Amino acid sequence: MHPEFKQLCRMLHREGIGFWMESNGILVGPEEAAVMKASGLDFCSVSLDGATAETHDHQRAVAGAFDRARQGIGCMVAAGIRVQAIFTLTRENVHELFDVFAVAREAGCSSVKVNLLEPTGRGELMTIGERGLGSRELLALGRRVEAFEAEAGIALHYSWPPAFWSIDRLLRGDAATCGVHQILGVLADGTLAMCGIGRHIEELVYGKIGETPLAGTWLDHPALRELRRLQPAEFEGGCGQCIHASVCFGSCRANTFNATRSLRAPYRLCQDAYNAGLFPETRLRSPIGAAERA
Ligand code: SF4
Repeated sequence: MHPEFKQLCRMLHREGIGFWMESNGILVGPEEAAVMKASGLDFCSVSLDGATAETHDHQRAVAGAFDRARQGIGCMVAAGIRVQAIFTLTRENVHELFDVFAVAREAGCSSVKVNLLEPTGRGELMTIGERGLGSRELLALGRRVEAFEAEAGIALHYSWPPAFWSIDRLLRGDAATCGVHQILGVLADGTLAMCGIGRHIEELVYGKIGETPLAGTWLDHPALRELRRLQPAEFEGGCGQCIHASVCFGSCRANTFNATRSLRAPYRLCQDAYNAGLFPETRLRSPIGAAERA
């Protein structure tokens, strides 16, 4: 949609800045895809929230979005860009989860990422209780997806935290952290924030381009200093007991902050599992965690 999209791609390339993109794919034609590729982009994520037009268009609230997303994927694949389909799980599309793997594979995608619906932005409006799935369902689906990967014919990434990953997946070295310590979000209007979450949470906004010095903000903003001081051992609940905490860093701190207004609060899915006795005991730092929970 940006009128200077192609110029921006070329400028990034000229300046030697690597970039990835996330897109709904619907405005990517052969020309855009060629510019993206020529600008050094070799990976793009495209939302596919259903295996059928009916479901995807309903999830995206745009008629025709499914066909156009697949066209966009086709253009990128033809240009030599690796495309990852992203499927955000809700109660309304879960019946198409396993079908979307075949749709993505046939469209030429190299992988599918299954995202869990987070109560942020539109996710908040979608009222998790009604359209989101419960923690038990999400854990059961994660196990099914990981078991299915060998026959899916495409790489699958179910976005649950590493406490639930199989040993195989841990050994593969899949990225388990969001890299929040290396990120400074710059939003389209110049807002500086923890990440894209700055659109929704004022407390995680640090300033604005043109008004706030960039280097000074990065080095000295009190919220960033607090984030850097925060130790995984200070996390509350299950995250504080988890052997993965130093790498995982409590999954998404931004979404957790949005829900709790605390950077120390545990990640919702893991805490639900911990409370329900579904958290793997072998991923707890000590049996004390299990005893405390009991
Ligand atoms: S308990 Fe917390 S640190 Fe451990 S895997 Fe879950 S989110 Fe990550």
